[in-house]
Amino acid sequence: MKIAIIGGGAAGTMAAAAAHETDPQAEIIILEKNDGLGKKVIISGGGRCNLTTGIKDIKTVLTKYPRGGKFLTKAMHRFSPESVWAWFESHGVPLKVEKDLRVFPVSNDGKDVVGVFGKIFRDPKINVRFKVQVMGIKKEPDGFEILVKEGKPFSVDKVILTTGGQAYRQTGSTGDGYAFAQSLGHSLTPLAPSLSALFTREKWVADLAGVSIERAGLACRPERSGAELKDLSKKGPSASSERHSVVGPFIFTHKGISGPAVFALSSLIAFEPISSDDPLPVSIDFFPDRKLPEVLESVWFHLDKYPKKSLTNVIGALLPKSLAFRVCLSAGLDPESPASACNKKGAERLAQIMKGFMLHTISRSPGEEFVTAGGVDLKEVDPSTMESKICPGLYLAGEILDIDGFTGGFNLQSAWATGRLAGESAVSIH
Ligand SMILES: Cc1cc2nc3c(=O)[nH]c(=O)nc-3n(C[C@H](O)[C@H](O)[C@H](O)COP(=O)(O)OP(=O)(O)OC[C@H]3O[C@@H](n4cnc5c(N)ncnc54)[C@H](O)[C@@H]3O)c2cc1C
Repeated sequence: MKIAIIGGGAAGTMAAAAAHETDPQAEIIILEKNDGLGKKVIISGGGRCNLTTGIKDIKTVLTKYPRGGKFLTKAMHRFSPESVWAWFESHGVPLKVEKDLRVFPVSNDGKDVVGVFGKIFRDPKINVRFKVQVMGIKKEPDGFEILVKEGKPFSVDKVILTTGGQAYRQTGSTGDGYAFAQSLGHSLTPLAPSLSALFTREKWVADLAGVSIERAGLACRPERSGAELKDLSKKGPSASSERHSVVGPFIFTHKGISGPAVFALSSLIAFEPISSDDPLPVSIDFFPDRKLPEVLESVWFHLDKYPKKSLTNVIGALLPKSLAFRVCLSAGLDPESPASACNKKGAERLAQIMKGFMLHTISRSPGEEFVTAGGVDLKEVDPSTMESKICPGLYLAGEILDIDGFTGGFNLQSAWATGRLAGESAVSIH
């Protein structure tokens, strides 16, 4: 059995390792256009590689995928986060789980994760061809012909397509596989950037750049007319009037907002059109665990306790000071005025703004998204084998599929799990 794996990223390397572990006699060819394996994996998690999650309950893990969670059920049971942990440790990479349940190599070096595969691929049955760009895949009566830019076409029995999405294109993931899948009869769902920072219409956010909030609630509800909604429904799965909300840490940047909660929100609104002409309002709750009357009480308490201090300083006891300044302005109050000058209405406005601070997002941080939402339609792939239902002998795994998760190790987890299942199935099904 001769198998070509197109793309030596997370899913491709795991598919190759799984195929080899399942059938050591299988002949495996990995075609990778870069000069090394897993370029994106190495830079993931800020170079530390957040390779999976510490969440053990698979049902909970599956809720971390805005798209593809249900499809992933079988792959995830077969190669769960706990199995991923055990597999990497058994291959010589000790792991650790951090407070927020992200899992990293103890070395904090993504190269160690990819290094595992380099060792496995020393086996003569695995042929890794670097700097080889696949240009096309043709179905033949009893296999496939692979067309490459750097040499002659060649034939294989089966193909595992793991070319990734089209985010961070400089890592080699330029979306080539979408066209290959289409040429073999597959359809694509709409594609959109996901897991990105958001830029805001409010330019003054630059004054707050670097200010971070450990736990905030971010929410948005696209307010659109019936006709617009009808039009949006054609554009993508999450374009809707549904309220999206997340709770978590975020940070102000020079142009907007970023951080885990913003990434999660960007994932939920991946298919919402956002522009300067049509901004998407986002409301920020700085006290997601306290109700409005409690926040108001707290504001009153501080105003009453420090009547001579400026409003900024008083509110600065509840929020970072530069943000407190902005909250006072948004409440229509002079930040430098004494606390004693703030009446009941003013205090109510302050509390309301702390529970619903409005920003208007005008774009995603272009080209800096972490993943591509959308991809090969999951209806056309068998979730228990990853084999194409359209083109037998073709297997698909990783980000090329219409699967994407939140930050926290979920995207690599799905690439390992689907890659593993594709590799095992490709050598087991004859
Ligand atoms: C900056 C950044 C940080 C991230 N951090 C994390 C994180 O910490 N945790 C997490 O879970 N996820 C993270 N992700 C997401 C995660 O890295 C991806 O979802 C995952 O790598 C997808 O795996 P894949 O195998 O499907 O594709 P990729 O890893 O992108 O691999 C695809 C491979 O195919 C090759 N290829 C493409 N076309 C061709 C062709 N025509 N011929 C030959 N080869 C080709 C590419 O060169 C590439 O090596 C991050 C992403 C980015 C961009």
